[in-house]
Amino acid sequence: MAELRKHPLTNDWIMIASHRQNRPQMPKDYCPFCPGSGKVPDNYDVYKYDNDFPALSTNPPQPDPVANEFFETAPAYGKCEVILYSPEHTTTLPELPAEHIRKLVDLWVQRYEEIGKDENIKYVFIFENRGEVVGVTMPHPHGQIYGYSFIPKKLELVLENSRKFREEKSKCIFCEMLEQELKFDKRIIFKNEHFTVFLPFFSEYPYGIYIISNRHVSNIAGFNDEERNALAETLKAATGTLDSLFDMKFPYMMCMYNEPVNSEKCSDYFHFHIAFYPPMRSADKIKFNASSETGAWAHCNPTCPEEKAEELRKAYNRFLNKKS
Ligand SMILES: [Zn+2]
Ligand SMILES: [Zn+2]
Repeated sequence: MAELRKHPLTNDWIMIASHRQNRPQMPKDYCPFCPGSGKVPDNYDVYKYDNDFPALSTNPPQPDPVANEFFETAPAYGKCEVILYSPEHTTTLPELPAEHIRKLVDLWVQRYEEIGKDENIKYVFIFENRGEVVGVTMPHPHGQIYGYSFIPKKLELVLENSRKFREEKSKCIFCEMLEQELKFDKRIIFKNEHFTVFLPFFSEYPYGIYIISNRHVSNIAGFNDEERNALAETLKAATGTLDSLFDMKFPYMMCMYNEPVNSEKCSDYFHFHIAFYPPMRSADKIKFNASSETGAWAHCNPTCPEEKAEELRKAYNRFLNKKS
């Protein structure tokens, strides 16, 4: 079964994807993403792979007949793609050369534009789950893309706030946030000509860094050649910094925020950024999203962002030293 069900209390859509439970157990040592598996080309750098068990598809089944005048269902229309970062089974993002990550950036641009051509898609969400802690079963480095037929609640909230800010202050709220962070300086981890990496004032996670473009650009396709190279460099350094914290492959959820597609035009108040949500507070302690976070969306960060930013800057320097 794959369908959308409306949560009547929050007015949000829930993806029901019970068929995903039937995913076969892979034989040990078999990786479908490795060249030679028969599932991917024998030669590739980066590759778009259609999810074998998608929660959303462009040909969704009819929803089960359980809806009524109160409970609403909708077909699970959308896209679920897997983005393979490299043919190497164990080489993760920070270990890839920046020139290689640039190919990944180009693939993201291409998929964002291509998926956005489908007028039924309203939001293209590019993300990566890294590490067993966040449920990754396939170690081969990959990210994912979901194309939703609706704008998810969190995005709706951010869009609403940024639209209001724009109306009241005639300014982009993200540009303002970046200016404020640069002025305060203590939460900046590093910056280059085109991107700034910082631990935000409001960080919900101990190491929840953000990457934001210095120029006001509302989606990844809006970056020029030089900015795309810089994004690749910045991603390598940001993930390398996280790995340098405790000298381990640091688990994270990486979420890329672009403006919605096929929706109200918001390019003057939405601003491209990437947020990392690493579920660790140290090398071996997990920061659980527990009752307050899950039940009330009230986050509790048990650490001081200004202190953690200092720690992250030191990790960034270790990353630089390792590189040279
Ligand atoms: Zn593999
Ligand atoms: Zn902006």
